[in-house]
Amino acid sequence: MNEIEEFRRETRQWLETHCPASMRTPMSEREVVWGGRNGSFPSADAEQWLRVMAERGWTAPSWPTQYGGGGLSAQQSSVLQEELRRLKARPPLYSFGLWMFGPVLLEFGDEQQKQRFLPPIVRGEIRWCQGYSEPGAGSDLASLATRCEDRGDHFLINGQKIWTSYANLADWMFCLVRTDTGKKHGGISFIVFDMRTAGVETRPIRLISGESPFCETFLTDVRVPKDQLIGPLNVQGRRSLAQSATLRTAHRVPRPRRARLGGRRFCGRRPAGHASLAALQGQLHRRWHHRDQSQRHRQAGPGPARCDLRRSVSHVNEFRPANARRERAAILR
Ligand SMILES: Cc1cc2nc3c(=O)[nH]c(=O)nc-3n(C[C@H](O)[C@H](O)[C@H](O)COP(=O)(O)OP(=O)(O)OC[C@H]3O[C@@H](n4cnc5c(N)ncnc54)[C@H](O)[C@@H]3O)c2cc1C
Repeated sequence: MNEIEEFRRETRQWLETHCPASMRTPMSEREVVWGGRNGSFPSADAEQWLRVMAERGWTAPSWPTQYGGGGLSAQQSSVLQEELRRLKARPPLYSFGLWMFGPVLLEFGDEQQKQRFLPPIVRGEIRWCQGYSEPGAGSDLASLATRCEDRGDHFLINGQKIWTSYANLADWMFCLVRTDTGKKHGGISFIVFDMRTAGVETRPIRLISGESPFCETFLTDVRVPKDQLIGPLNVQGRRSLAQSATLRTAHRVPRPRRARLGGRRFCGRRPAGHASLAALQGQLHRRWHHRDQSQRHRQAGPGPARCDLRRSVSHVNEFRPANARRERAAILR
């Protein structure tokens, strides 16, 4: 038996022993484990499943072991995913930290930041949200205006973010801010802060579905220590957006079918006006819930539905005129 076959045999045995039977069943939205300081578990089995997977580093199988990850090779990670799918095992943890922030920190963070933030992400102790979009900066993210001033021993942040998924439930935010007003693309930096910091206020946005998966996030004189800047200050706009592009592509799943709304297939006709985008987001959100429930039983990787949804958002962007897409592509390159 070769090494990878031996790994598969051991993995199958370990999962058979440690994955509770109730964690091998389809999962409703209310049973998703997001973790975090105020996180709750739908059952003792769900808590146990997260604990044993995190102890083994298998909530982040390919991350290095010194940061709490599993240290698995790409081949071993695939085998683990296959064996989890074989059992129809639920993901032990849904996390923007695992899917988005962690991969960037591994590439751009310093050693102190990695030691500080990665292990709690692996254990599901911190829930992260993504602070990118603003009322005046959606697809044209480089237009963001949230100001971050250097005040000597700290930064001072003022501005507003919008469509921040679950910001009202998050513990920390990873955020793009403007650190140089003279350069549109070259004056953006990547910073993180605790949502309990004075001056951070979230207001859930109620969608036509009645749900509030998004928030407006207001930042008023938010003081952030200098060691929470990720990567260099004023990292080239394209590069910092490349980070976010990295974020957005990290969990690319096979290209989903085009978005369908009410059975109609979009055929390149651009929905008219911003209002329709809000309606579209509301419907996409409902579609996400529907699709997510149906897909959860397959439980492969980091929440295909979300990536799907994000891609759905990018589908929306596909209805933009060619130059808008070219502009967005240029920024993300
Ligand atoms: C489910 C979901 C979750 C999200 N979660 C987050 C999150 O956690 N954090 C976060 O920061 N953001 C989040 N977002 C926001 C998302 O990133 C933005 O919706 C997306 O980037 C598009 O921006 P916008 O909605 O502001 O639309 P805009 O970019 O303002 O576009 C609005 C309309 O204007 C048109 N348009 C835009 N630019 C041009 C142009 N140059 N030429 C011609 N027409 C143009 C578009 O086609 C569209 O019809 C989420 C969105 C969704 C749907």
